Amino acid sequence: MIKLTKRQDEILKIVKESGPITGQQIAEKLSLTRAALRPDLAILTMAGNLDARPRVGYFFNHNHEVKQQAEQFILRKVADYKAFPIVVEKSTSVYDAIVQLFLEDVGTLYAVDSDGYLAGVISRKDLLRTAIGNKDLQELPCSVIMTRMPNIITVTPDETLLEAAKKMITNHIDSLPVVKEINPGNHTYLLVGRITKTTITRAYLEIMEQNSV
Ligand code: ADP
Repeated sequence: MIKLTKRQDEILKIVKESGPITGQQIAEKLSLTRAALRPDLAILTMAGNLDARPRVGYFFNHNHEVKQQAEQFILRKVADYKAFPIVVEKSTSVYDAIVQLFLEDVGTLYAVDSDGYLAGVISRKDLLRTAIGNKDLQELPCSVIMTRMPNIITVTPDETLLEAAKKMITNHIDSLPVVKEINPGNHTYLLVGRITKTTITRAYLEIMEQNSV
């Protein structure tokens, strides 16, 4: 992505607010001559930020802006946005898992085995479903109700937020454990973080705010 100069940013702002607008009118707003503006207008038109129509003037190209924002999403890495995973031992009781969910204010817990490797995912609805049908939640271990390996959808720190978002949407899930594979082939994963739909929304807002000219 080309870094724009201060004056080019100013031109974009004017065209966004007042377009279609002629080169002469932009020059007047900036107290410059039309000739002095010509190189900047040429750059912005060539880069796709602006569209020019003869005898009408310059338009702000919204599609270009959206495409640039999407490109930035592709560049952002899971590693830079992941949150701490909230973890329970898979032998933890369902009762204690529910307490943990409230204490940590999260929607999903991850279960680990005695070696600390990822063993399962426990969502809000997994816990609700279990609570409806079972009286003795203190005796029931999470390992009985969790979604287990090898059915867990994971993401690695070097994947992009776009890839993480796609995985959540295609699999109809709210969060992904961020993992490092310890032993390729036998589903041994070290849990290093979590990505949720909130993470994606927050990143989206951040990108939008950074880009607002
Ligand atoms: P909820 O059940 O509260 O709506 P989810 O939509 O995230 O939350 O979970 C739906 C189901 O998918 C649950 O049974 C849960 O255990 C499972 N699940 C959640 N996240 C994952 C994941 N990353 N990989 C595999 N299964 C998951």
